[in-house]
Amino acid sequence: MDFSPSEDQEAIRSAVRQLCAGFGDEYWREIDRKGEYPERFVRALSEAGWLAALIPSAYGGGGLGVSEAAVIIEEINRSGANAAAAHAQMYTMGTLLRHGSEEQKRRYLPPLAKGDLRLQAFGVTEPEAGSETTRIKTTAVKRGDRYVINGKKVFISRAQHSDLMLLLARTTPYDELDDKTRGLSVFLIDLKRAVKDGRIRIRPIDTMLNHHTTELFIEELEATAADLVGQEGMGFRQILDSWNVERILIASEAIGDGRWFVDRATRYATARVVFGKAIGENQGVQFPIAAAYARIEAASLVRDKAAWLFDRDKPCGAEANMAKLLASQASWDAANAAMDTYGGYGFAAEYDIERKFRETRLLVVAPISNNLVLAYLGHNVLGMPRSY
Ligand SMILES: Cc1cc2nc3c(=O)[nH]c(=O)nc-3n(C[C@H](O)[C@H](O)[C@H](O)COP(=O)(O)OP(=O)(O)OC[C@H]3O[C@@H](n4cnc5c(N)ncnc54)[C@H](O)[C@@H]3O)c2cc1C
Repeated sequence: MDFSPSEDQEAIRSAVRQLCAGFGDEYWREIDRKGEYPERFVRALSEAGWLAALIPSAYGGGGLGVSEAAVIIEEINRSGANAAAAHAQMYTMGTLLRHGSEEQKRRYLPPLAKGDLRLQAFGVTEPEAGSETTRIKTTAVKRGDRYVINGKKVFISRAQHSDLMLLLARTTPYDELDDKTRGLSVFLIDLKRAVKDGRIRIRPIDTMLNHHTTELFIEELEATAADLVGQEGMGFRQILDSWNVERILIASEAIGDGRWFVDRATRYATARVVFGKAIGENQGVQFPIAAAYARIEAASLVRDKAAWLFDRDKPCGAEANMAKLLASQASWDAANAAMDTYGGYGFAAEYDIERKFRETRLLVVAPISNNLVLAYLGHNVLGMPRSY
């Protein structure tokens, strides 16, 4: 077994680290304070080609594997930045690459690779369906040669900062289906145009972190067969194809966050002197940091295995889900260890701990809650009765 990263992976890590070094704590603190979108950072990532990592080189992308994408995402978060500003393009690529038509790929992938277009919105969640995706109610009804889409989506992030959106909608009523995983379809929507034409209205949702998430109200939005990705009625299965990548990359964000917390907490515990000695000399301060470090290393091994399997076209559902679960828990442990280490200063914005604390908490819940990951492991991997 060889655990060492490849030369390419080392080179990617060092290049992303260098780019992120140009966006320090002050930049992120200010962006967070003002609730702004980190436009300059996302542009720099696009121009350097990192957001096009998973686009095949034939379409102008990096042609890299998920193992390399994981390094990119992890380094972004490890620098103190938040990959959530721009990660959707990587998450959704599985659906587009596996199920998109050649025409769709030729039309969209080259400008996406160049950074001239952004596919940063993924419209799945609805107020009444929640985690139960097969219950979504947004409909795409065929009228002549068009689909007319109506409905409501919630928590759709970056909708105001994306040109395109992958949208999941119902093409067959739920009650008419024998197999409830069918009847949903994926559309590639020109989001900017839909907003301009008044077919999609966006309402920002104020959240505890700077995430640019929104509600979408969709009214009489027309889509053609050319906008349908893959086969009508197979949308749920098609987005499942991108979910393993999403899990692996979310795990990478959490691992990056966890490493950032451990670095900061370690430094602070070594430098801060109270009662005449460094606080890190106290086992009550040192051990939670060391324990979080061990958990992050363990999660990282499972993440690496999941990415390795995915890149070799081997089944990786169990590993991808376990990586997401373990990494988000480890990062949350690291966040709490850092908060405790910093004492009162952990709450002061200028130390950045509270910002990352808010950011990493999301990974336990979204894009899928850890309860649903456990339900997947319990049923699909261990064969226990279905709990969802
Ligand atoms: C900041 C943010 C950004 C987001 N961005 C996007 C996005 O870009 N696109 C998108 O489509 N969605 C997005 N989401 C939505 C996210 O994917 C959902 O919030 C998440 O999947 C959980 O769904 P829910 O909020 O409806 O919770 P619910 O489904 O209502 O669940 C609530 C709680 O009940 C638990 N629960 C539910 N069912 C079970 C069960 N059977 N067993 C055990 N526990 C259960 C869950 O674990 C959860 O803790 C975002 C959410 C947030 C907060």
